[in-house]
Amino acid sequence: MGIRKLRTMGDDCLRKNCKEIKMITPRIRLLAGDMLDTMYEANGVGLAAPQVGILKRMVVIDVDGEHPYVLINPEILETRGEQTGYEGCLSVPGKSGIVTRPNYAKVRAMGLDGKEFILEGEELLARAICHECDHLDGVIYVDKVEGELIDNEELEHQMEEEAINENE
Ligand code: ZN
Repeated sequence: MGIRKLRTMGDDCLRKNCKEIKMITPRIRLLAGDMLDTMYEANGVGLAAPQVGILKRMVVIDVDGEHPYVLINPEILETRGEQTGYEGCLSVPGKSGIVTRPNYAKVRAMGLDGKEFILEGEELLARAICHECDHLDGVIYVDKVEGELIDNEELEHQMEEEAINENE
């Protein structure tokens, strides 16, 4: 297991344009494994290389804890629809904010085997694809947030109250 240090808002790494990966080297494979470990350790559903201080175009995503994806040089080919909901980021710990994203996204990327593949996702997977690809261009979700960021504790409290109201 290789847990890497997470970079948080204010770190220059998060605002840089990341470089294309030309070759799958052992270092790249190691980085992918470490990024997955770091993401799971932090209970995240996605992580981009600049979030661990590496300015290369690679992201990892696993929205259900069962289907880990490593996307190298990802390129969004198509998006459709819209979803509006709370979103968070491991580089903005303890906070969430409302972001509107496409409800469907289709992305082309290279895998660790050096082969190109297509990944299509809806809902949370589409949100994660768009969020993580943004990181490779130095974009953080707070740039797109509607309204204020909210503390996760407060958000959980709000959701509990809503659930109680619905049951009444
Ligand atoms: Zn993020």
